[in-house]
Amino acid sequence: MSLMITDECISCDACREECPNEAIFEDEPTYMIDSDRCCECVDQYSEPACIVVCPVECIAYDPDNIETEGELKYKHAHMDY
Ligand code: SF4
Ligand code: SF4
Repeated sequence: MSLMITDECISCDACREECPNEAIFEDEPTYMIDSDRCCECVDQYSEPACIVVCPVECIAYDPDNIETEGELKYKHAHMDY
């Protein structure tokens, strides 16, 4: 499952550099997560790095983008950097 950023985002930029997959980018009116690049930090961190640093807790799991752990691992393994 990719994560999503909700309307509560204050565009503080804390999450963007923490993402190991360059999945987060600045947009209007809030920052966004590229679902093709977000793999929930699987095989990288024990929990999503962006959620850990977000000061307003506005990053959530996207119910419209559900993926199995195997699919997330596959996405990570085939990521272009
Ligand atoms: Fe990036 Fe990980 Fe957050 Fe996905 S969960 S946007 S890969 S930091
Ligand atoms: Fe928005 Fe949270 Fe990222 Fe800051 S850390 S830009 S508030 S999603």
